[in-house]
Amino acid sequence: MALQTAEALILDVTDLHDRDRIVTFLTREHGKKKGVAKGARVKHSRFGGQLQPLAKVSVTWFEKEGRDLGRISTVELVRTAHPIQTDLEGLLLGSYLADHLLEFAQEGEASEHLFRLLDSTLQALLAGVDRDLATRYFEAWVLRLAGVFPAPWDCPGCGAPFPPEGAVLPRSGEMLVCPDCGGGPRVSPAVIDFLRRIGREGLPAMAENPPSPAVLRQVEEICAHVRRYFLQRELRSYDVIQRTLARLG
Ligand SMILES: [Zn+2]
Repeated sequence: MALQTAEALILDVTDLHDRDRIVTFLTREHGKKKGVAKGARVKHSRFGGQLQPLAKVSVTWFEKEGRDLGRISTVELVRTAHPIQTDLEGLLLGSYLADHLLEFAQEGEASEHLFRLLDSTLQALLAGVDRDLATRYFEAWVLRLAGVFPAPWDCPGCGAPFPPEGAVLPRSGEMLVCPDCGGGPRVSPAVIDFLRRIGREGLPAMAENPPSPAVLRQVEEICAHVRRYFLQRELRSYDVIQRTLARLG
């Protein structure tokens, strides 16, 4: 048995039998990990209120060779994400962020960039950065870090810079091309600019000079398209968000 300690972001907490919980968390060093918190459902458990989704924690766990489920020994709260989850929209947003990493982070593989992305996005949301901007920034970056949707510089088809009218997103593709190299929904220069800006600016800087809501809508559509194409399905939490917003309409 190996004892490990790491800073982590809690991605998911589910019940196991009457007494325990399974906690999925993301670390820089070991990527995504899953462990059992014994007795976490019992009153006065030593885990108390520490097992909060998206909380930043210091976690210590035991790992056994060949087992993918560790045993969590202690969890200490470093930063709660509770203030951004006090309304329905915030709760949905939180599960959408976590869902991305449950899907894209690898188990047992160093995940420094994904950790930093989620950590800084939560930090920005806690500081009051616009939720829409933060979500678009996050989803575009997850696809970039996963190597699924690279930054748009020149057209990968012909090597030429994108013309002033913008680019297109081919139905059967995961990168933007110039209108001569493919057909599909048009992507405006402002959206291309957004996808370039996220490579050199953090969320606080983006928030000082934010793109228009129309640009953010197009970024959302493009990312959803690329993600669906890559996963061959939609993230469950994204479906829930769409259905809920339609109902609230
Ligand atoms: Zn081209």
